[in-house]
Amino acid sequence: MPARKTLPNPPEKLLSVAPALLAWYGRAARDLPWRVGPAARRKGARPDPYAVWLSEIMLQQTTVATVRPRFEAFLERWPTVEALAAAPVEDVLAEWAGLGYYARARNLHKCARAVALEHGGVFPQTEEGLRALPGIGAYTAAAVAAIAFDAPAVVVDGNVERVVARLFAIGEPLPKARPEIRKAAGSITPRERPGDFAQAMMDLGAAVCTPRAPKCLICPLAGFCAAFKQRAAEAFPVKKAKAEKPTRRGAIFALFNSKGEVLLERREDKGLLGGMLGLPGTAWAEHPGADVFVSAPAQAKWIEAGAIRHTFTHFHLDLDVYFADENRRTECVIGEWLEPEAARLPTVMKKALGRALAARKSG
Ligand code: SF4
Repeated sequence: MPARKTLPNPPEKLLSVAPALLAWYGRAARDLPWRVGPAARRKGARPDPYAVWLSEIMLQQTTVATVRPRFEAFLERWPTVEALAAAPVEDVLAEWAGLGYYARARNLHKCARAVALEHGGVFPQTEEGLRALPGIGAYTAAAVAAIAFDAPAVVVDGNVERVVARLFAIGEPLPKARPEIRKAAGSITPRERPGDFAQAMMDLGAAVCTPRAPKCLICPLAGFCAAFKQRAAEAFPVKKAKAEKPTRRGAIFALFNSKGEVLLERREDKGLLGGMLGLPGTAWAEHPGADVFVSAPAQAKWIEAGAIRHTFTHFHLDLDVYFADENRRTECVIGEWLEPEAARLPTVMKKALGRALAARKSG
């Protein structure tokens, strides 16, 4: 917790924050495939609301570096909101693999259908209108309204939260500090170019006001920054000690047939990885049952392939991986056979299958 409290900037000084930041953005904006940069905007180009919305949904759980090629692939496959709305949801889920919770992909598809069918393919331009769509929360509505339509919305993502907490040296720990951070962010959001301002704040948080070792000496906002004045930038935002993530455990089974194909099953629609293909296995629990083989897809000579660990947002998962080759006595087979390389699997399943394939090859 920082020792000193710094007086907030006087209102007239706050008015200078946006011009200083926008001038920096004019020089240093990141080149992103969903973005219309400041130079293009000056020439009259406007962002495509579909691209802005798609990028914001993808960026909710994943980094810019991961999203960039995936966004381009999505847009090439479904260049308009109508095209995405017309796609089978299974295709959208498969294309989403590795981008985070599948519930988001389902909502993405639902939202595309709502825009295409109920709004004539045109995204609403206000935060309220956007919030009424499936899968669009307060943050995404504000981001799309500001970036795509230049609505004067206050956009606070993780990067902006950090920058604002430092600019104002907000001493309240997160998450309690959020309303105060939001109010402070509102006090520096300009009426002119709120979309560029929001993107400039995001860029500043990503490139200059980084979580560790912020580059205060080259920061365009150093003259306004209370944390910098205290020489305590990294002390903000103040965070409550994190609770440990629990660890769940389970077992997973890779059964191969004589063609080298692996048996996969489609997971239940509801829940984690809902509707995706995966290897069959036990439930994932902190205290799993002892006999894991009751959950095997067939009676077979199961061989241990080792364990993998995967971390989800709310828990770690340790999975024991087993593999076996189908034989004449193999029974009770469920699911579908697919070549391992052809299967579009979520990351945790890819890891488990990779482990099974490596063990089968070496054994
Ligand atoms: Fe962040 Fe430092 Fe800039 Fe303040 S001066 S906004 S702490 S980079």
